[in-house]
Amino acid sequence: MKFKQLLIFFVLFYILIDGALSQNIKVGILTNHNIKSFIFSTNAGRYQITGDSTHTIAIKKNSVINFSITDTSITIKDLNNFIGNFKYIEVKGLAKENIFEIQSITPKLKAKTYNDGLVLFPSNGFIRIINKVDLENYIAGVVESEAGSNSSLEYYKTQAIITRTYALKNFHRHEDEGFNLCSEVHCQAYHNRAHISDKIVKAVKFTRGLIIVDTTLNLITATFHSNSGGQTCSSEMVWLTQKSYLKTVVDTFSLSKTNSTWTKKIPLWKWKTYLKQNGFVIPATVKAKDYEFNQPNRKMFYTFNGDSMLLKSIRADFKLRSTFFSTKLEGNNLILNGKGYGHGVGLSQQGAMEMAETGYNYRKIIKFYYKNVFIVSLRALEFFKDE
Ligand SMILES: [Zn+2]
Repeated sequence: MKFKQLLIFFVLFYILIDGALSQNIKVGILTNHNIKSFIFSTNAGRYQITGDSTHTIAIKKNSVINFSITDTSITIKDLNNFIGNFKYIEVKGLAKENIFEIQSITPKLKAKTYNDGLVLFPSNGFIRIINKVDLENYIAGVVESEAGSNSSLEYYKTQAIITRTYALKNFHRHEDEGFNLCSEVHCQAYHNRAHISDKIVKAVKFTRGLIIVDTTLNLITATFHSNSGGQTCSSEMVWLTQKSYLKTVVDTFSLSKTNSTWTKKIPLWKWKTYLKQNGFVIPATVKAKDYEFNQPNRKMFYTFNGDSMLLKSIRADFKLRSTFFSTKLEGNNLILNGKGYGHGVGLSQQGAMEMAETGYNYRKIIKFYYKNVFIVSLRALEFFKDE
């Protein structure tokens, strides 16, 4: 790429990403539940409701608002006073910091708190609830949901950069449904606003604007899993698509952690039936030791008697913690001795936590699990913008 082209690329890249950073993100929340009625209350800040873009209602401090579905619209009530029926509702925060609580009534769910605002509309007989939230507030919520409250600052920084990279890379994933990302593991777990650890808020602020790009300066697919079991998978082993930065890595940081190993006992008759169903030939002369499958290093295929199948299919069919297992026969059972938890591609969360605790910084951690990547500071790119 010539310098001028590179320059233009940097400028466009900066404008695109910086624009997204200063924007809100629309996150479909409680998407696993079909919510028909919920209560909204204010924890901090000031709010107003706009119904169908025409009716504006100020929410008084300490008031409790009920939203419920009625045919094809949403009914708003303040205590028991009817306020109106609308097809599209926006609940907007007007103060510098705005925090609200949602308590689902039908079905009955635990109350949750979120930052910023809401967008509501009917969807297949239920209320579609969207948290319209500042991107950095969303990132803090995801870091807390994904990493819990007991991690180190350096790990939270790592998770924040991965979360931001993922959010921007997948910004249009749920566009057809009227939002950007969902709050479930399908996108990234986002249970509520970050509230249990100041370290998380600090880590998000410290890494503000940092994202991971590959050698072509595109945002990477920043996949992660719980524990690699001592070796990560390259992307093609699991998803059949090669990515220059998702390469297999020997990862001793993931050893001796809670999710480093697992075992599962499967009756031999069940295993034989399964193999036959998947086209394996089991000769009458087969010996016990023929069932022993050894995987000292990550493999893509399970092999038996000259036939093979994808380990990821076995993982899915038997709901195994990982594809990284060896087998041995014990009596009438096959024992699966497994390592790791999750698909194994990209960053191992428990390995990264171990790295952070033993003094590695977020740059070292990210570059250990993702190969040939750059952690780009958007502010540094301002130089090119000013040219
Ligand atoms: Zn999703």
